[in-house]
Amino acid sequence: MRALVKSDPSPGLWMKDVPEPAVGRDEALVRVLRTGICGTDLHIAAWDDWAKAHVAVPLVVGHEFVGRIERCGDDVTGFEVGDLVSGEGHLVCGRCRNCMAGRRVLCARTESVGVTRDGAFADYIAIRASNLWRHPGTIGLDTAAIFDPFGNAVHTATAFPVLGEDVLVTGAGPIGLMAALVARHAGARHVVVTDVSDYRLELARRLGVTRAVDPRRESLADTMATLSMSEGFDVGFEMSGNADAMGQMLRHLSHGAKVAMLGLPSEPYAIDWAETVMNMTTIRGIYGRQMFETWYEMSVFIESGLDISPVITHRFKADEYAEALDVVASGRCGKVILDWSD
Ligand code: NAD
Ligand code: ZN
Repeated sequence: MRALVKSDPSPGLWMKDVPEPAVGRDEALVRVLRTGICGTDLHIAAWDDWAKAHVAVPLVVGHEFVGRIERCGDDVTGFEVGDLVSGEGHLVCGRCRNCMAGRRVLCARTESVGVTRDGAFADYIAIRASNLWRHPGTIGLDTAAIFDPFGNAVHTATAFPVLGEDVLVTGAGPIGLMAALVARHAGARHVVVTDVSDYRLELARRLGVTRAVDPRRESLADTMATLSMSEGFDVGFEMSGNADAMGQMLRHLSHGAKVAMLGLPSEPYAIDWAETVMNMTTIRGIYGRQMFETWYEMSVFIESGLDISPVITHRFKADEYAEALDVVASGRCGKVILDWSD
């Protein structure tokens, strides 16, 4: 089968002919149809310090996928050949304190699909069936392919109630944009998005956010004034990993505001702790997706009319992966899909 492989400890990814994966008794073999490209895949391709520390070669990369079950291991129940599925990319240990308590998102010993074990950028992936999520037949394949990052967005956007609230999203990458759409769907009043990329701000506007702001050109205080907001944002989603964005966020929150923080800073940075304390701001880190409450929420949001497909801006055949990776690296894109169906 074809697989996009990190075969050498050096920059690059290579399409190789590799054997189909063996299927364990508790695993399903999935024929991959579409995959989404994530920042993690770029780190592995670039072979940066993070990748060197976390990845052992050879590795089939990729973790965002949708496909059809082709075969089930002997112990698999609840799934049938032909089911349309995506996979939760975190394989939890099942034995640590949090796993035992049912808080699987907090597992202390997680394996990661496409990072610490073979991934989904291939014609087939074998994965524990208990990590699969079945889609209804009505869902679009491209939408289903990005349930992993959509899950990050939903996990963030449901961390705090947003009904009637004013929401600030810092970072209009694919995940920030999807979180903005979820906040809208969930009944927020104003959803203001910041970014420093014109392409991404324009995409945010096309998605119908209340305002898309470049904080270097326009102040958030002015934006708030045009919206007749006097006390600041009630809920923040930090989706950039950028220190300036977080500082800006904290300066424009109402007292008692809540911040859900998914963005991963590459370095530690300082914030104004005195202001944070005196305003009684809550800041909550968000990791991955709740297993499987977030998956349930994603499915019902789509079923109840949420359309995340406009976040997808580019589609490539799997064999055009090099061009697709270049587009993702350029930042002039929303979500980028690879098609493995033929
Ligand atoms: P992305 O890199 O595509 O988007 C980040 C955006 O932030 C970019 O559009 C960038 O222009 C913007 N940005 C940079 N500086 C800014 C500033 N000063 N103000 C406002 N915006 C600014 O990333 P993504 O794929 O959408 O992911 C969002 C973040 O979430 C990343 O930091 C990623 O590493 C992180 N992430 C975390 C988890 C988790 O489980 N916690 C999972 C996936 C991704
Ligand atoms: Zn565990």
